[in-house]
Amino acid sequence: MIQPLNPKPNGQCKVVALPMQSSDGALHHISASSLKLYLGCSLKYYFKKILKLEEPTSPAFQLGKAVHAGLQAFHLGRWHGKSHDEQTVLKAYHRAFLEQEATDPVQYKSGEREKFLEKGELILKAYLDSDHAKMEDIPLGVEVKLEEEFAELPSPLLGYVDLVRPGNIPVDFKTYAATPNVELEAFQHELQLTAYQLLIEEATGEAVEGRELVFLVKTAKPKIIVHRIPPATEAAKARFWLVAQAAIDGIYHERFYPQPGMACSWCSFRQECKAWTGGVS
Ligand code: SF4
Repeated sequence: MIQPLNPKPNGQCKVVALPMQSSDGALHHISASSLKLYLGCSLKYYFKKILKLEEPTSPAFQLGKAVHAGLQAFHLGRWHGKSHDEQTVLKAYHRAFLEQEATDPVQYKSGEREKFLEKGELILKAYLDSDHAKMEDIPLGVEVKLEEEFAELPSPLLGYVDLVRPGNIPVDFKTYAATPNVELEAFQHELQLTAYQLLIEEATGEAVEGRELVFLVKTAKPKIIVHRIPPATEAAKARFWLVAQAAIDGIYHERFYPQPGMACSWCSFRQECKAWTGGVS
């Protein structure tokens, strides 16, 4: 039998997960990324979303944001019948890269910045050459912000969809350093893709015909991998609500504690985590 930690003589155990700061306001909106963050490690969620501790921006994150800006320029141009050639896309990419550098500088090693810049250009050129970029259908939306109330949730569900294709198909672009296992990635992003589907269906009153992940892989010879999965079934939607409600319940009741695992190896809050006592001195 698991014994309570430091039981008091009156039978009550000490609170072991007392947060230092209230989670009030954390549930103003609910997004798939916040839910995933909480479910991955509730203490990391607390450091990031409640204490709002800063994380150093990695070169890969900065590159990913700038590449996204290039893709956005491409699809916005297609959508609005405006310029979306290579020059337009690379211009948007460079502008976003410089803006990121100005607002959130990254510590590069010698020569690393130029290599990263070039990698971003190569991946965008590979995308422009790909079948995905040659699609003939005109987007229904680009960088679409969706926010809807659902009876299953206490506050609105919020999502930003990179691209919506005819058939109400949400597309999410992901940049990777190495070739991913697409089945595993689809499994890991199920929460996000189901949230997009629920938001689109609620906003349009129409069915979603599929969901798409596009991987931009920054290997020496860049690769573009498109992975289309079917729409979430009713059972998958029910699973989404249950998972979301479990995370929301934990945030609302301020259950934040370390969940050591593989994700600790890239967690920026290891020092804070080591120092955490959960309010017990
Ligand atoms: S180091 Fe691991 S357990 Fe600690 S906050 Fe980060 S992810 Fe969670």
